[in-house]
Amino acid sequence: MPKVYTRKDWGAVAPKRPPRVLDRPPDHIIVHHTASPNVSDTSRAHAFALSRQIQRFHMESRHWDDIGEQLTISRGGYVMEGRAGALAAIGRNELVVGAQSLHHNQHTLGIENEGTYLKDDVPAKLWRSLVEVCAWLCTAHNLDPATAIVGHRDYNDTDCPGDVLYRRLPRLRKEVARKLGSDAGPPEDDDTDSEASRRAFLAQHRHRGGKHRH
Ligand SMILES: [Zn+2]
Repeated sequence: MPKVYTRKDWGAVAPKRPPRVLDRPPDHIIVHHTASPNVSDTSRAHAFALSRQIQRFHMESRHWDDIGEQLTISRGGYVMEGRAGALAAIGRNELVVGAQSLHHNQHTLGIENEGTYLKDDVPAKLWRSLVEVCAWLCTAHNLDPATAIVGHRDYNDTDCPGDVLYRRLPRLRKEVARKLGSDAGPPEDDDTDSEASRRAFLAQHRHRGGKHRH
């Protein structure tokens, strides 16, 4: 699991109403960009300020109950909890309902990636964290990265997450899948270990495949 800074860490204000939690996991992960400037400040202080700024915007200008997305990643690669209860829900294989994709909040989890990726490339630090976060979510919610990871524009009429980041989604799915595969155990010289890794990997695959038919 990547290091995720909590709402307490970044100084979130309390939501207007308690979060709504569904006792089922999300079936898709939505990749967004924040459409904010591509700043060069990659500090943690900036990342925390970004989360506070997004929360203020969503609550005061959009009149939402809380920050819209479940997770935020800064251009420096810092990962922050978004909506209240998001981390705990992921831990329980449940979904905190966000406000991040019109008509699709009941079954999706949203990741806001700082910046505007209409033309500019995605910073390496942000990318590394996004891969890690998606791998963590796919494991936590038993999702297949090949089908679960989508861009905001797949659901709504929007530029989000920008042409550049959207075009990178096939690569994201591949890198996450590779990471999940290697998490089942690195190749070992010892035969017993490699056999155990292979069995663990196959068991994981069967499990995922089984779940998917429903
Ligand atoms: Zn979006």
